[in-house]
Amino acid sequence: MEKRDEKETTIIRAAAVTQDDGHGHLHRPHIPVTPADMSALIASSIMARSTANPRASSVPTRVASTTGTRAFAKCHGADSLSARDALGGSSRVPSRTSTPARSTVRFGVRALDAAMPFDNEARAAKRLRKLKIGIVGFGNFGQFLAKRFIDNDHAVIATSRGDYSDAAKKMGARYFPDPDDFCEQHPDVVIFATSILSTEATINSFPVQRLRRNTLVADVLSVKQFPKQLFLQRLPDDFDIVCLHPMFGPDSGKGTWKNLPLVYDKVRIGEEQPRRERVDNLLSIFEDEGCRMVEMSCEEHDRQAASSQFITHTVGRMLGSMELEDTTINTKGYESLLNLVNNTSNDSFDLYYGLFMYNKNATQELNRLELAFSQVKAQLFDRLHTLIRDDIFDIDGSSPEQLKAAWEKAGETMNERGYKERLIDQVNSTGVIGGSRDEPDRKGANSEAPSR
Ligand code: NAP
Repeated sequence: MEKRDEKETTIIRAAAVTQDDGHGHLHRPHIPVTPADMSALIASSIMARSTANPRASSVPTRVASTTGTRAFAKCHGADSLSARDALGGSSRVPSRTSTPARSTVRFGVRALDAAMPFDNEARAAKRLRKLKIGIVGFGNFGQFLAKRFIDNDHAVIATSRGDYSDAAKKMGARYFPDPDDFCEQHPDVVIFATSILSTEATINSFPVQRLRRNTLVADVLSVKQFPKQLFLQRLPDDFDIVCLHPMFGPDSGKGTWKNLPLVYDKVRIGEEQPRRERVDNLLSIFEDEGCRMVEMSCEEHDRQAASSQFITHTVGRMLGSMELEDTTINTKGYESLLNLVNNTSNDSFDLYYGLFMYNKNATQELNRLELAFSQVKAQLFDRLHTLIRDDIFDIDGSSPEQLKAAWEKAGETMNERGYKERLIDQVNSTGVIGGSRDEPDRKGANSEAPSR
């Protein structure tokens, strides 16, 4: 996203106060002239000329903002100017500097805009523009977003399959169980926060025709190519589309959103200024919360997310199923594993399955993960293999006895060496110790192992 500071042209409003002495002569009160006042002085001189000859000056002076004028007026002893005075400059108002003899003194206030490299006022105004944001899918993530939008002074309405009236009320949102009623509220932005798996069916039955033309539609699905294609196929051409992925959730984004990535792709935004501003306004919620704004195509997102997000969820789920426990001697590394489990275990299986099913790169990443695991395991068992071989040639130790006991327990008929041979072969071919007697030998290892 371009930095607005660099992009926007700034308008500084400077006002000039002139006094009419009642005879058509304009005087400037004696005020210290700073560089900032220069433009104001120019304005007053133009004003003087145009008063003498109204058609003489066609300089495009922009009228001062009320606050800007008040601030100026206050600085220069004319703080009783009303907004109308400031804008028109034609009303008669009592002047502090006027004398009884000059009771008809008039103030003329004009402003001149000067381009500056920043515009905090315009920026702030833009940020403050309140959006009516409609959320479709008011589950875990939909509610998480809604709270933050409301904290940022935006109005939130919601609809979902289930009934979330109470949850919505609690946070200050309005809930509409019927999507028709929801659409008839004409939200500026509609955000789909439905599960990846249900999004297509939800959009297919969604009464988009009841929305206002030009509505901005967004999604926050954890995969991006799929909703992008879906939106382009199913939404009317008039609608704007932005695909978002806040790469954090209710657990990892519980506190601050500082430096958490927000990936976005402005898929289709109309040329008109208000439409551009609307999408920027939406994005600025995340920006103002401190998110790291990453503009990226949906396709590139999915390529990168498969090897980061999908793997994270997979490992988190694997560790979660191991039911790791807190210990009194947790290392930092172990703490981060527990955190990983924490951050992923509350996500629905639908979400995880969606990451797999709707990202074409996921299968390849899963295979890579499996291969990496086998390689690491094989490394361990290679060493074990050596130890076992040593044992074969030096069977004085207790190990063969233990093996023998195990093998007898399992009903094996082979002798110790046969058992070990089989074990070694199994480790070499599969990386796994143990297995059923019926398991076919992979590297031609013979279960009828040579007897000693
Ligand atoms: P989820 O299980 O992925 O989605 C739950 C939402 O989907 C609920 O609003 C649910 O509505 C709706 N839903 C599920 N099945 C539906 C169906 N058959 N018909 C209509 N609606 C259905 O859990 P989630 O964590 O809330 O995620 C929502 C979206 O945000 C997902 O697309 C996910 O990828 C994305 N996201 C999640 C996270 C996260 O950390 N959780 C982060 C970034 C993005 P009801 O509750 O009304 O049934």
